[in-house]
Amino acid sequence: MSDLRELYQEVILDHSKHPKNYHKMPDATHIAEGFNPLCGDHFYIYLKVEDGVIKDISFEGAGCAISKASASIMTSMVKGKTIEEAEKIFNEFHLFVTDKADKDFDPNSLGKLAVFSGVSEFPVRVKCATLAWHTLINALKNKNEVASTE
Ligand code: ZN
Repeated sequence: MSDLRELYQEVILDHSKHPKNYHKMPDATHIAEGFNPLCGDHFYIYLKVEDGVIKDISFEGAGCAISKASASIMTSMVKGKTIEEAEKIFNEFHLFVTDKADKDFDPNSLGKLAVFSGVSEFPVRVKCATLAWHTLINALKNKNEVASTE
């Protein structure tokens, strides 16, 4: 398990240092701002949605390694997915990191998001890991408000 933990740490650090889809999107159809006051994580999520499909997604902002890695992994996971599929992934991920998933839930079904398995022990970190997702959901609903983890 400690080897796995180390690997997870590496993936998180790598994504936070070299985030995917990290740029502004001038022609975004949906934009939302997310803020986690407990940690100071602050991101913008940009989306290009066509016919219920997330054609493109990017983010920008600043935050701790976990929040940035989570945003980076999220953008690479939901690109090309439908809004329903993205919401389903978020729901499963949220149950997973808050330790509420079914006993027979297989974390591998979450793909790269499994690297956040350790955060369920740290409620403050759960907010870091889910901030980008809350912001994504707000952006999809086109709510013109700041997603806050509070
Ligand atoms: Zn954070």
